[in-house]
Amino acid sequence: MASLPEDRPIMAALPHALAGRCPACGGAPLFRKYLKPVDRCAACAQDWSHQQADDLPAYLVIFIVGHLLVPFIISANAALDLSLVAQMILWPTTALLLSLAMLQPTKGVVIAWQWSRRMHGF
Ligand SMILES: [Zn+2]
Repeated sequence: MASLPEDRPIMAALPHALAGRCPACGGAPLFRKYLKPVDRCAACAQDWSHQQADDLPAYLVIFIVGHLLVPFIISANAALDLSLVAQMILWPTTALLLSLAMLQPTKGVVIAWQWSRRMHGF
């Protein structure tokens, strides 16, 4: 098994990535738009143009939101008497808001993981 790079510890990069900051230094924003990373860190000059997160953040968010929401929906239906109309508004809205809230941090984590493992030219 190949050894992992010790100079880019993922556990140190994760808090920065979750906050939308540069995983390498945490000194500048990682994103210039909602899901568009900067080409280069303004603080440490790390080149982020190599990132290839592609669809992985969306797949992870769908997986996590589904596993969070479905048990909650089942529990709510067992405990409460929610009308069908209320559920048709409540659950899709909750899923949408959770997904939008989680997408940027998840993309940050995927980019940090790629950087930490020196994938895609990092
Ligand atoms: Zn940086």
